[in-house]
Amino acid sequence: MKEEYAIKKESGWKIVNEEEKDNIFNFSEEYIRFLNKSKTERESCNYIVNELNKSGFRNIDDVDKLSSGDKVYMINRNKSVYACVIGTDDITNGINFIGSHIDSPRLDLKPNPIYEDAKLALFKTHYYGGIKKYQWTAIPLAMHGVVVKADGKKIDVCIGEDDNDPVFTISDLLPHLSQEQNEKTLSKAIDGEALNIIVGSIPNGDDKIKENILKILYEKYGIKEIDFNSAEIELVPAFKAKSLGFDKSMIAGYGQDDRICSFCNLKALLDINNPKKTVVAMFCDKEEIGSYGNTGMKSNMIDLFMNEILEKQDELNISSLNKTYCNSIMLSADVGAGIDPNYQSVSDFTNCSFIGYGVELNKYTGARGKSGSSDANAEFVAKVRGIFESNNIKYQTSELGKVDIGGGGTIAFILAGKGVDVIDCGVPIISMHSPYEISSKFDLYETYKAYKAFFESI
Ligand code: MN
Ligand code: MN
Repeated sequence: MKEEYAIKKESGWKIVNEEEKDNIFNFSEEYIRFLNKSKTERESCNYIVNELNKSGFRNIDDVDKLSSGDKVYMINRNKSVYACVIGTDDITNGINFIGSHIDSPRLDLKPNPIYEDAKLALFKTHYYGGIKKYQWTAIPLAMHGVVVKADGKKIDVCIGEDDNDPVFTISDLLPHLSQEQNEKTLSKAIDGEALNIIVGSIPNGDDKIKENILKILYEKYGIKEIDFNSAEIELVPAFKAKSLGFDKSMIAGYGQDDRICSFCNLKALLDINNPKKTVVAMFCDKEEIGSYGNTGMKSNMIDLFMNEILEKQDELNISSLNKTYCNSIMLSADVGAGIDPNYQSVSDFTNCSFIGYGVELNKYTGARGKSGSSDANAEFVAKVRGIFESNNIKYQTSELGKVDIGGGGTIAFILAGKGVDVIDCGVPIISMHSPYEISSKFDLYETYKAYKAFFESI
């Protein structure tokens, strides 16, 4: 046989047989259902905890002692969740972590959202995460979230998903009158203060539309204007995730960054029984706005979970947490930028990923000279490669675009800062951060297989 010296780049679809293709398509159907049920971090957290409960995981607060094979989780304010399966090996020899995020770019309602203008009632928004504002106008939007009253009573809101529900939308200027708007740059054409949601048009007896909407909100949901001060309402695309293409090989849907990696992380975790290494899956919030806050990866909540796991195995001492972190390995499970056929010039063709070509590894992220990146060391990259190659996982190594074209970050540096060996590893996406992101079903399944192999590695 002739020795292969070069990396062989070929579509994953060329190496799957009919049975594998069936597995991929069935797995994708479940993923699409998850996407359609989980459009916010709270809904994703609920879904994940439900699945964990069904698989025998218990809340760590209900457990006094932990030993190998035990499965526990901790819920952080209904917005992030950490789950663990205890291994047979001593935990201080290291954990296999996989961390993904369950928040996605969107529009949040302002604390005082409702106003009336030009004979319509509207809600003001403040966008969350990196969006291209023009993509959020003239599409159907659904309202998801919670309103919490001063007495703590919580009202769940989900309007726009049921076929009988109304939807909401942001207007955009008609082309006939867009002469001035067309002269502006893309980032200036839609003003942040113009992302206002149309919510009603019928006036009451005094010709007040806002008052009529407030009356409806109170009668239907028990919500008064002041209650929006203590609410978290997110506007997300109302349309559903679906198979994409004549061959149905892809998935189009909102929130795939990073729910696609979160789904793979969850599915891989649910397959783990009696592992050698302790495994921990983290599903965190606030990644899209820098991982700040007590539900973001930068908070010490993960240390609390780890300390409880150590304590309940009688392993907790002054250095055990640091030692555990320093011996641990992690995949920062986040999406990458698959090459976009319409915008190829932003990518370096020898260091880019193609959708359908497998799970993507990013040694580093960052911008302007890798700034902000934790940059995995060669020894660890080799270890991960070894895990993938010995398990026949199809992977591709890439960068986020050409040098100095832009950049971005993930949660990788946060755990790396604690001493963990971390590399970014996830699914390549086209139209990332748009209301309708594109992924490959092959990559989805390959990423699940990659995460499972990583969890099981020793
Ligand atoms: Mn992400
Ligand atoms: Mn993102």
